[in-house]
Amino acid sequence: MPAESTDTEVVILDDGVPTAARVYDVMLDGKDHYEIDRQVAHASLAVMPELKEIAAHNRAMLHRVVTHLAADQGITQFLDLGSGLPTARNTHEVAQQVNPDAKVVYVDIDPIVLAHGRALLQDNDNTRVVTADLREPREVLAHPEVLSMIDFSKPVCVMLVGILHHLLDEEDPAGIVRTLRDAAAPGSYFFITNFTRLSDSPESTELEQVLLSQLGTGRVRTPAELAAYFDGLELLPPGIVPLPLWRPETIVTDATTVGVRFMTGGVARKN
Ligand code: SAM
Repeated sequence: MPAESTDTEVVILDDGVPTAARVYDVMLDGKDHYEIDRQVAHASLAVMPELKEIAAHNRAMLHRVVTHLAADQGITQFLDLGSGLPTARNTHEVAQQVNPDAKVVYVDIDPIVLAHGRALLQDNDNTRVVTADLREPREVLAHPEVLSMIDFSKPVCVMLVGILHHLLDEEDPAGIVRTLRDAAAPGSYFFITNFTRLSDSPESTELEQVLLSQLGTGRVRTPAELAAYFDGLELLPPGIVPLPLWRPETIVTDATTVGVRFMTGGVARKN
């Protein structure tokens, strides 16, 4: 385990292995990463220079979706799976700005997320950070810390933001989403974003190879594969779209660039 924490201080030990959470932190101009993570980030940026822009779009959509669900749909519980390292405006900050009583659970496979989360959340009674593997969804759903915050008999927002492309086909991401969907109460929402294969962009395939070879994970999926994640759910307008086009707050002037189209996402309701 590369991380240790006390109440006030986080000490991260470099084990020489890059992780998705820390590579993403590089993309967001964070400070919690090592040289090995920067190497993977730079190799990825060499293939697709728009990745930093894409990461920013991903966070901006998260802010819009969480605000909408908390403010307009009355959602009071958020299960943020593959939450990543704390960054600017995290899910609990956005949700609890709308409703201070909103409950948020962050789940990530990388223990560094727990270490940093504990330091950030020591005074927050409505938020938890859990180290768990989404590939075992029933264990995530039954985790005592998850159950201490989330009542699955009531609507919950299940967030799978930028994580399913870290699961290989044989790990059955669609089956994982189905398990989560079946556990969620009617009135729950699913919020999913994912790298998307672009037929006119060989970089989207090349990036997959970089991520697979350097990070050991990475699967860029077709629009049809993404749509299948929402099977049995009712997609909110405007559907599955490039991230900046999901209910934008400002006018998007050029929606044709790879930086806009490479990651798509949507929000759907379980009726
Ligand atoms: N959700 C955040 C966002 O979109 O801003 C962070 C996305 S980051 C690209 C992907 C996160 O998924 C990383 O923090 C990584 O550790 C986590 N992750 C990857 N595989 C996982 C798994 N099997 N179970 C739980 N978390 C996982």
